[in-house]
Amino acid sequence: MSDTYDVIIVGGGPAGSHLALRLARAGRSVVLLDRKRFPRAKPCGEFMGPECLPLLEQVGLLERVLELGAQPVARAELYGYGRHASGRFGRIGRAEAQAEEGRALGRERLDAAAIDAARGAGVEVRENWSVARVLRDESAAVLGVAGTDVDGEPFELRARFTVGADGIGSRVARSLGVHQKIPWLDRIALSTRVDGSPFAGHAEVHYVEGGYFAIAPVEGGQATLNLVIDRADLPGGRPALRACLDDHLARAPELRERLTFAPDQAILACGPLATTTTAQTFDGAALVGDACGYIDPMTGEGLFFAMRGAALLAESLVPALSTGRCDRLALEPYRRARRREFMHRRAMGLMLQRSLRHPRIASGILRLLEARPRMTDLMMGMTGTSVPPRELLRPSVWLDVLTTRRVVSGPAAGRSAAPTPTTAR
Ligand SMILES: Cc1cc2nc3c(=O)[nH]c(=O)nc-3n(C[C@H](O)[C@H](O)[C@H](O)COP(=O)(O)OP(=O)(O)OC[C@H]3O[C@@H](n4cnc5c(N)ncnc54)[C@H](O)[C@@H]3O)c2cc1C
Repeated sequence: MSDTYDVIIVGGGPAGSHLALRLARAGRSVVLLDRKRFPRAKPCGEFMGPECLPLLEQVGLLERVLELGAQPVARAELYGYGRHASGRFGRIGRAEAQAEEGRALGRERLDAAAIDAARGAGVEVRENWSVARVLRDESAAVLGVAGTDVDGEPFELRARFTVGADGIGSRVARSLGVHQKIPWLDRIALSTRVDGSPFAGHAEVHYVEGGYFAIAPVEGGQATLNLVIDRADLPGGRPALRACLDDHLARAPELRERLTFAPDQAILACGPLATTTTAQTFDGAALVGDACGYIDPMTGEGLFFAMRGAALLAESLVPALSTGRCDRLALEPYRRARRREFMHRRAMGLMLQRSLRHPRIASGILRLLEARPRMTDLMMGMTGTSVPPRELLRPSVWLDVLTTRRVVSGPAAGRSAAPTPTTAR
C-alpha cells in the first residue's frame, strides 16, 4: 500500500476545505479531490450564522471573507399566512450568540477562498477529479478511493485515512453502504440571485402554499433567492424552473413586487434535500458535513455543521494519525461529539419541517412567533447554533421568552414591504 498521503479528502466544500486546512497545519499530508473546478456555484442560501464567525477565524479565513464583501445579516423576518415574525441573534438565558449578526457571502467566493488557503497551507488540491467508490481490504477497512481523474482516466488513490466530505449525495457514504434518503421529505431547491437592495442587513423567509422562499443579501448588491418545494411539484425541463419560480412567487405578491431579476440570471436546481447516514465513522474513514446527512436549508445551519464538524473530526484524527491507529475506536470522540452537538439540532430541524408542511400548524406557529417575538429569537438560537437544549430547562428562559415584549413595527406580512423591527423591553 502506498502511504504517500496521510489523508484523502473527497470534496472541497466548507467541510472538506476546513478539515484540510486544520490537518495541513497540524503537519499532515493531505490530498483533496473535487469533481468541480473552483470557483464554482453551489445552490445555497449563503447565510452563515454568528457561530460560523469564530470557526472562520480559527482557520484564518474571517478577514478574507470580510474583505470579499460578506454582508451583515442581523435579523430574520418570517412571513406567511398573513403573519409576520422577526427574530434576532443575541442572548437567550445563559446562551449568548457569538455575535449579533451573521454574514452572507456567495459560495463561489467563500469556497474558493478556503480552497486557496488550503493550497497555501500545503494541501494538494486536485480539481475535476471525481470519486466513484472507496477501496476496502478484506476486513472492510478503507484503503482509499477510486474514480476518474481530470483527463477522464480511471484512478486509484490510497492513504492512511479517507474522508467523505462530498456533500448531500455523498458517493463515499453510498459506497460505504450507509447513505439513506428521508422519503417523506423529498424536497428540492431552486436557487438564483436577485437585486439585493430591498434585503440589505436581514434575511427573509416567506412561507407559501407548497413551500417557502428564503432570501439573504450577498456581496455585489445582490441577494440569494431560494425556493424550496416538494420534488413532485417541479415540472420537468430547465425552462420549467423559471415558470415554477414565477408560479410560486404569484403566491407571495409582497415578495414578488420587491424582486428584480437580471435577464440572464441562472437558476440552479438541487435535491433531494433530506438524507441521513446510519454511521459516520469506519476503520480508516469518516464522513463530515452534508455527507453525514442533511435536512433542509430552512434553518441555515448547514455551513456551521460543515465547519464545526471539520473541527471536531480534526480533533480526533490528528492524534489518531500520530498513534498510527485510525480505526473506528480511535474516532469515537468524533462520533460522540457530533452526536452531542448536532443531534438535537437535527431533531429540531426535522420537527420544524414536519410541522411546517401542514398549513394549519404552520399558521399557528407563525401566529405564536408574531405574538411572542422572543420565541422567534429562541427558535433561531436553537435551530441555528447558539442555544443548547438544556437552556429550555431554565425557568428564566421561559420567563424571558414569554414576558419580554418586543414591538415589531410595520403591518403584517402579505401587506407589508420590509418592516423594521424595534425592541422595547
Ligand atoms: C438550497 C440550499 C440553501 C441552503 N442555504 C444555506 C444557508 O443559507 N446557510 C447554511 O448554513 N447552509 C445552507 N445550506 C446548506 C449548505 O449549503 C451545506 O450544508 C454546506 O454546503 C455543506 O458543506 P459540505 O462541505 O458538507 O458540502 P458541499 O458544500 O456540498 O461540498 C461538497 C463538495 O464535494 C464535491 N463532490 C461531490 N461529489 C463528489 C465526488 N464524487 N467526487 C469528488 N468531489 C465531489 C462537490 O463538488 C462539492 O464541492 C443550503 C443548502 C441548499 C441546498
